[in-house]
This record gives sequence, structure tokens and C-alpha cells, in this order.
Amino acid sequence: MIQIGGTRIPMQEQKVQERIKNFYSVPLGYTEKEVVAEAQRCILCKDAPCEKFCPVNMKIRDMIRKVAERDFKQAFLIAKEDNAIPAIAGRVCPQENQCEGVCPLGIGFTGNGINIGKLEAFIADWAMENGIKEKFYVKERAEKVALIGSGPASISCAVDLRKFGYKVTIYEALHKAGGVLQYGIPAFRLPKDIVEYELSYLTEIGVEIKLNNVVGQNIKFQKLNQEYDAIFIGTGAGAPLFMGIEGEKLKGLYSANEFLIRTNLMKAYKFPEYDTPIVCGNKVGVIGAGNVTMDSARCAKRLGAKNVQILYRRTKKEAPARDEEIQHALEEGIILKELVNPTRILGNDMGWVNGIELIKMKLGKPDKSGRPRPIPIQGSEFIMEVDTVVEAIGTKPNRLFLTKTPELETTDWGTIKVDKNLMTNIKGVTAGGDAMRGNATVILALGDGRKAAKTVHKYILMKNST
Ligand SMILES: Cc1cc2nc3c(=O)[nH]c(=O)nc-3n(C[C@H](O)[C@H](O)[C@H](O)COP(=O)(O)OP(=O)(O)OC[C@H]3O[C@@H](n4cnc5c(N)ncnc54)[C@H](O)[C@@H]3O)c2cc1C
Repeated sequence: MIQIGGTRIPMQEQKVQERIKNFYSVPLGYTEKEVVAEAQRCILCKDAPCEKFCPVNMKIRDMIRKVAERDFKQAFLIAKEDNAIPAIAGRVCPQENQCEGVCPLGIGFTGNGINIGKLEAFIADWAMENGIKEKFYVKERAEKVALIGSGPASISCAVDLRKFGYKVTIYEALHKAGGVLQYGIPAFRLPKDIVEYELSYLTEIGVEIKLNNVVGQNIKFQKLNQEYDAIFIGTGAGAPLFMGIEGEKLKGLYSANEFLIRTNLMKAYKFPEYDTPIVCGNKVGVIGAGNVTMDSARCAKRLGAKNVQILYRRTKKEAPARDEEIQHALEEGIILKELVNPTRILGNDMGWVNGIELIKMKLGKPDKSGRPRPIPIQGSEFIMEVDTVVEAIGTKPNRLFLTKTPELETTDWGTIKVDKNLMTNIKGVTAGGDAMRGNATVILALGDGRKAAKTVHKYILMKNST
């Protein structure tokens, strides 16, 4: 029976006691019956607010309608038209702040908005299992475009540039493509076979991916700029920030980047089957409260740590991580210690971390971010015993690329300066994603990639006409 409105169909998940011992996906995905029932709850609003809040303007209402009609193929093709990686976006997008956040069924924080992310992931997985691909006719053009970096910004830019008919080559520094999707977000949130599948589509549509190519090191940006008709820079923001406190050189202190790259990209959780080891103790303190913090804490738990505490200077209410990630972390026994800030990392005679000094905080008036400013309570310092510390307080664009391209204008934050069409100060060179925004989201990077592809197309057409 069709039930319009009603409550959200719950998602089955791996049981907590099992999942903290493995890196498999936590959500188990909807069944066909469940996904159809969830889609049939949609009231198909005339003005479709969900679509207006989607940075790639996916035709979400049409997609839901097709799922409700059990036409999964058409639903997938609708999603894929605007979103290059629906199987990924469906899993990691902060839907609660975008499409699902404005769904009238969820107004009042009932949590009953249509589960758009899980619907999207379902149809993309279904298409993968049934060999359904988006097909489009390419009228080949002679011009070549180089993309630097292979994260979501470059992926979506590459797809749209191929649709315009350009020859597209991606230069990626690492030995695997995908950016944060590959090296940062753990497999229990984003299984790597899904990432590989979405990337395989790029090669199928004719995108060339050159791995192990660090632009600015083994290949010069200036050379690419001469050889190609246009460039897109999607180099992300992979350089970790540190707190600048005493003890950060101790063994057992990691940046979240290193901790996650070792664990996910290099598969340290499968050591010695894989070469890279990781030393993760029993008492782990993770500093921050974003998605990266939750991912690091949940990886530490899976690496066998008994006690994992997230150390945050504000409270859970202000934490920037996705609601689902916070909830999953808490279910897994991770403790969110609110209103504390590290002042020192302590070590033993052998140079290993053995404690962290924290100062208690209180909340003041809102700061520029709109969240209450955390204020230290003088004299409230105390010591917590830890043997591993992970700093997950943010990242910035890598200096290596930028120092080798001094002609490229940057902001005071070290991000690449662009105009409203994502063109940099260098003609024909566009930029987007985290390299331009600083730490942001997958869907914003996808949106930038699409916008930059349009700008590149316009630029090349104009150049040809003059
Ligand atoms: C652990 C973690 C969890 C996250 N979780 C979420 C989430 O749940 N939801 C969400 O929406 N967002 C999340 N984010 C943020 C999101 O992943 C990023 O906003 C997004 O990946 C940015 O995409 P991008 O293409 O700009 O850059 P990236 O994904 O960072 O990709 C940049 C690529 O460029 C390559 N590169 C860098 N320099 C060079 C060079 N000189 N030459 C060649 N290649 C180069 C890098 O190796 C990398 O592969 C998370 C981020 C992290 C770190």
C-alpha cells in the first residue's frame, strides 16, 4: 500500500559489536521493497526545494518519482545526468544540510525527510550490479584539457569536458586516483570498490588518468599550460594544520591525514598482508569534531584501541561533522569530550606520547562562524592519559604546487583566487574544489567541476573565434 508522508523507512546497519572489528560498510542499504516504500512517501512538491539546495542541481524529485515507480534504471540515468558519482555522493553528502534538510516531511527536525542519499546510493548500486551506464554521444573536438588532481572536483569536470568533446587528461600525484574519496574517507563509510567503479567510468568515456605525476615536481605546470588548450586545478587541500603546541614531534602523534592515509590508502589495517604498518595505542585522543575527526576516531576503534576520546573545544551541538557520523561514532563507544582544548602533549623518556594536557573551555558570544566562541577557563588545566594523539583540526592547500606556480594568484588563506566563473588570473586556467574553497564537501567540489567545465568550453570557443 502506498503511504505518502509517514515515517522514514529505517536503514539496516551492521551491529555495533561486529562493525567495530571490521572496515565493511556500516549501512547495509535498502532492499528493493524498502527503497520503493521510502520513495512512495515523497509528496512530490511542486517547487521541489530539495533540488534548489543541491549544489549540482540534481533532478531529485524526478529521481524519487522513478524509484517510487520501481523504474530504477531511469532513476539512475536522471541522477547521473547531473552527478558524476551518485554512488559516492549518496553515501557521503551532508544531505541533512541540503536536500533532506529542506524536505517538508522533515521540517521540525523530525528526521522524517525523504532519505534521498540512501535512495541515490541504492539506484547507483543497482545500476552497477545490472551493468547500466549513462551513454552519451561525443562529437570529438581537437582541443586538449589537462586536469590537475583526481578528486571529485576533477572527476565531474572531466565528465562534462568529455561531453563537450574535449580530449581530457588527469594528472594525479598519488598511485591511486580519487583524492580524499580514496585516501581519506574510510571504507566503512565509502567502500573502495564503489570508488574504483565510479572511476572506471572515466576511463570508459575516454578520460586519460596519469598516476604518480606530481605537477610542480616531476612535471611542470608551465609545460602543461603550453601543451594544453586549458587547465583545471583540483589539487584539494591536503596539507594538515597543527595546533602549534609543545610535544607535537613526539612519536604516537599523527596528523589525521597521515593516520587516515596509512589506514585507508595503504591498508595498514591489513598489515602485514599490506606493507604499511600503523602504531595505534589503546588510549587515543582525537582533536577536532569534523568528519575527519569522526573518521579518525572510528578507524582507531577498528584498529583495536580500547578507549577513544574526541577532544572538542565546543559542544556536540556545534560539531561540524555530519549527524550520522557523530551518531555512529557514539554508538561505537567513542566518547565525545566537550569543552576541552589541548595545551600540551606529554611524552615519556623514549619520546612516545603518554599524556595530553587539556584546558577546560566555556562558550562565549558567537564568532565569525556564527558558533559560540570557545573561551579557556584559566587555571583549569588537567592531564589525560593517552598513548596516541590524532590532530584533525583542518587542512590547507599543499604549498608544493603553489610555490612552483608563483604566477598563480592566491588568497591570504593560501587558496587559489578565482572569478565567479572559476577562472584564475591565468587565462584558460580554472580551479575549484578544496584548492579554491579550503576544506569543503564532495558535492561542492562536484559543483565546481561542472561550472569550471562550462567556463573552459566558453573560453575555448571564444579563443577559436578571435
Ligand atoms: C577524512 C575526510 C573525510 C571527509 N568526509 C566527507 C564527507 O563525509 N562528506 C563530504 O561531503 N566531504 C567530506 N570530506 C571533504 C571532501 O572529501 C573534500 O571536500 C573533497 O574531496 C574535495 O575534493 P577535491 O577534488 O577538491 O580535492 P581532493 O579530494 O583532495 O583531491 C585532490 C587530489 O589532487 C591531488 N594532487 C594534489 N596536488 C597535486 C599535484 N601537485 N599534482 C597532481 N595531483 C595533485 C591529490 O593527490 C588528490 O588526489 C572529507 C574529507 C576528509 C579528509
